[in-house]
Amino acid sequence: MRVKDLVGKRIECTCGKVHEIPRIDILLVCAEEVVSSSTNALFLVDENTASLVEVPRERCLLLDGSERVLATMENVEKTMEKLRDYEEIVPIGSGTLTDIARYAAFLIGKDFSCVPTAPSVDAYTSTVAPILVHGVKKTFKAKPPRRIFLDTEILKNALFDLLRAGVGDIAAKVIARMDWVLSNAFTGEYLCDFVWEDLKDVLKEVLKSTPNVLKREEKAVEVLTEGLLVSGLNMTIVGNSRPASGAEHMVSHMVEMYYEEKGKFPPFHGLTVAVGTFVAMKAYELIVNGIELPKEDFSLAERERELKEMFEEEKVREFLKTYKEKKIPKVDLNKARKMILNVYEEYFPLLEDALEEIGVRDLIEDLGRELLAKIVRLSNTIRDRFTVLDILDSERTLKSFSEWVIQQV
Ligand SMILES: [Zn+2]
Ligand SMILES: [Zn+2]
Repeated sequence: MRVKDLVGKRIECTCGKVHEIPRIDILLVCAEEVVSSSTNALFLVDENTASLVEVPRERCLLLDGSERVLATMENVEKTMEKLRDYEEIVPIGSGTLTDIARYAAFLIGKDFSCVPTAPSVDAYTSTVAPILVHGVKKTFKAKPPRRIFLDTEILKNALFDLLRAGVGDIAAKVIARMDWVLSNAFTGEYLCDFVWEDLKDVLKEVLKSTPNVLKREEKAVEVLTEGLLVSGLNMTIVGNSRPASGAEHMVSHMVEMYYEEKGKFPPFHGLTVAVGTFVAMKAYELIVNGIELPKEDFSLAERERELKEMFEEEKVREFLKTYKEKKIPKVDLNKARKMILNVYEEYFPLLEDALEEIGVRDLIEDLGRELLAKIVRLSNTIRDRFTVLDILDSERTLKSFSEWVIQQV
């Protein structure tokens, strides 16, 4: 299904819920038209995006960051202050500027439309905004855009790493689906099939056309953008990130938090997601092929010690609390294998190629294998969301998996 067929719909779904999909105008335009159709809007830009669209200087707020603008509460406040005199905010940027604008508009009741400058994340159509508050990432309720202006000329000329990242963030949806199906079967978590049905075809197209995305071919970049927009809507449809985020996002999230802890900029979101996707694929390979790794204890004390090597005490305490409260069920591996086999056989060959194309092995080397192994065995600590890594944990193979997976690079 295409994204335009989804917006504004009311769906009585087989999952038992009625899904109201927000009305968003998705407009294929050349960026100059944005200015003429947004007469009482404030434009939000940063140093990288300021030159992409010619906007009236007096209606433009430039956020500057030494290296990269971050979605911090300070930037949200700065934006709100200026936005008071306007009816609408239009960020010209990728995930970060969109999140800042979306949250600022929500807080003071203004309209919000956006001009994505890179097909790098699925955040444009979502309704939540992850914002850093005193260095801690919190996810706030915000609002969906009224209009999304897509200018293919801008999107296809995005930074090369943002194109790679876009493929990484969309590749994750295969893992997210499998994790969710297993969680439904073994923990009884609610599952909606509609948000897989609406994405699966465009997802396949994106994975197949990865080489062309990287060659900046118009059609391929449009398909990637479409996939990301549908994925963002899926989160809005279900009301949380489950359809878009599984084990791979927990690995990514832990990498991001580790960089932030060290006061460094993490790699672009989709790039760490790609690393997480590689890891989760290997975990599914074990299950599907019945590969048995040595069972090894990974005690709570050991977990705590390793977490403390990476994070300050308060965070470690919070993570361990989450982990202790997490109920990890015993999983019938045969049953699990049967449930995911279809998706595995259909998508994994494509996923493998796509990850190869975007250079996932280089990303892992950049991160460092030892650090990755550690993150692999710790990442199921940070969130109460059942994933394939929890299955390995309950099988007592998580620790040996973390060493095995880095040998597979
Ligand atoms: Zn993501
Ligand atoms: Zn549903």
